Amino acid sequence: MTRIVRTGEFTAFAFVVALVLTGCTQGTQPVSPSSAPTSSAAPTYSPAQDSYTPVVVSVLNAPVATAATDEMLHLAYELQLTNASGVSVTISSVTSDIAGVPLQSLQGDALSAVFRAVGTGVSRPTLGPGQAALVWMDGSLPVGSTAPTTIDHTITVEMPEANLPMYGTTVKERPAAVPVSETQPIEISSPLRGSRWVDANGCCDLTPHRLAISHINGQFNVPERWAIDWVQLTGSNALFSGDKTKLESYPTYGNDILAVADGPIVAMTTDRPEQVPGTNPTGLTLDEFGGNYIVQDIGGGHFAFYAHLEPGNPKGVTVGQVLRQGDTIALLGNTGNSDAPHLHFHIMDSPSPLASNGLPFLIDHFTLSGTVPSADDIEKGFDGTPYPIEPAGAGARTAEAPLIGTVMTY
Ligand SMILES: [Zn+2]
Repeated sequence: MTRIVRTGEFTAFAFVVALVLTGCTQGTQPVSPSSAPTSSAAPTYSPAQDSYTPVVVSVLNAPVATAATDEMLHLAYELQLTNASGVSVTISSVTSDIAGVPLQSLQGDALSAVFRAVGTGVSRPTLGPGQAALVWMDGSLPVGSTAPTTIDHTITVEMPEANLPMYGTTVKERPAAVPVSETQPIEISSPLRGSRWVDANGCCDLTPHRLAISHINGQFNVPERWAIDWVQLTGSNALFSGDKTKLESYPTYGNDILAVADGPIVAMTTDRPEQVPGTNPTGLTLDEFGGNYIVQDIGGGHFAFYAHLEPGNPKGVTVGQVLRQGDTIALLGNTGNSDAPHLHFHIMDSPSPLASNGLPFLIDHFTLSGTVPSADDIEKGFDGTPYPIEPAGAGARTAEAPLIGTVMTY
């Protein structure tokens, strides 16, 4: 994997050099002023369009409109807010809209729940001078809606005191619209077969996956935005039966892992040991977090990441081997940063499991048998108690992204 990542870095570096050289060449040829307008719709300017904004707003990645199992089209993304002023400010609300039609409105506890200061992780939405925070957004529209091309935001900032005429004690910011990606989510087959598979930590709540924003290679990366931790329940809907510390107590353990699409393996590891279930591993390097894993190039700039696999490469696959959709490629294990057997799976835009942008994916067809109501209910499964499963929405599903808590048969 390391070699593949470095190849990408060198490619990017060469591209930058080429741009610089092109720029120098053009610089020797002065450009004459032209009376032609910059575009057919000549831009206009009004002083009223510019206003002082203490907080600078950007988006980490453009959201991809994604049809999910709640029959909604989800737009999951992260805003970065940086307090560029010299005083502490409080963000009292973050709202989003599509051409003025409200999409999401976050304030009070709802805002704190999805707000984390960079570095400290503090959820109180007050930012000191120079401090930055991330806000995890999830706007949704009924399935069948036309996906927007942009999302607008209003950020309400409370200042400690007014500084007229520049600003009052409350500043309502309207930053540049966030573009929505023009791409569609990729459609894949399930990497698992059988019944009672639960999507733990799936999109779009603030799960450990969505929180897993890493600053690697000098930028924020959100590889796990749409990641799923798949676990299979016992016949009585429990996570395990018997000794919690034995791998064999978990029906999840040892299941076949299937290729979700055609394409070559571009990275893999096979020699990481199984962890003891029920304990949190420590002392792992970045690359060891996935345990034994396979990265598969499934085309169109999409890479599938299968993690925590059994040691020893029991299916004998190799880097460079071109897989066919449905091929058995590994067995489900408990290696790496894993406290119970599960398949961690996500789709990303580069071969690096950590330094990449996580992309949504649709499972081509499956049967939804119900939903575990909350993340707390999922967490309680570690006590060995059966999961509550609500049957609402049960039935056959086609080309949808499973959301957290869904129980499925493939
Ligand atoms: Zn995971």
